[in-house]
Amino acid sequence: QSERETLTWQGFGDGTRELTRDIVQSGWIPDLIIAVARGGLLPAGAISYALGVKTIGTMNVEFYTGVGQTLAEPRLLPPLMDVSSIDGKRVLVVDDVADSGRTLKMVMDVINLHGLSLDFGTTIPVEARCAVIYKKPRSVINPDYAWRSTDKWINFPWSTLPVIRA
Ligand code: 5GP
Repeated sequence: QSERETLTWQGFGDGTRELTRDIVQSGWIPDLIIAVARGGLLPAGAISYALGVKTIGTMNVEFYTGVGQTLAEPRLLPPLMDVSSIDGKRVLVVDDVADSGRTLKMVMDVINLHGLSLDFGTTIPVEARCAVIYKKPRSVINPDYAWRSTDKWINFPWSTLPVIRA
């Protein structure tokens, strides 16, 4: 894949403000935000400030090992979030991009299956929605909120520069 979509820091700032405006205008305000680490950490932080929602958790998922290179399945990495803390809450799951959509689907499944299991108990299930900066046409999941759509490989401002070493 030679063609790239480049997101600048300014584009990230503007994009997450616009995405937040979409969320607010939909009339749905989350009680808490879950960032899908690591790609969702910066978008989730920006959206958290723009929404004024201070409660944030993270789910750390590993799937890509390089440009277009993935493991067989996305997998949850420690430290694991205590999902019981989302009981009865409106949850906004935030990631950088829904590409295959499999990472986001896995996280949404973990949350919704937890909600389902609560149906047999006494607690009210959660309502989970998801927001991404970019979605790709092939994604298996259609995000509730997306800023842009592209089928190119995206360069995010936080992951294009090399790691700093001594
Ligand atoms: P998915 O499970 O939707 O295929 O992708 C999961 C994760 O892989 C994304 O959250 C992101 O961190 C990484 N990823 C997928 N597509 C791209 C891309 O086009 N550019 C970059 N930099 N990362 C990507």
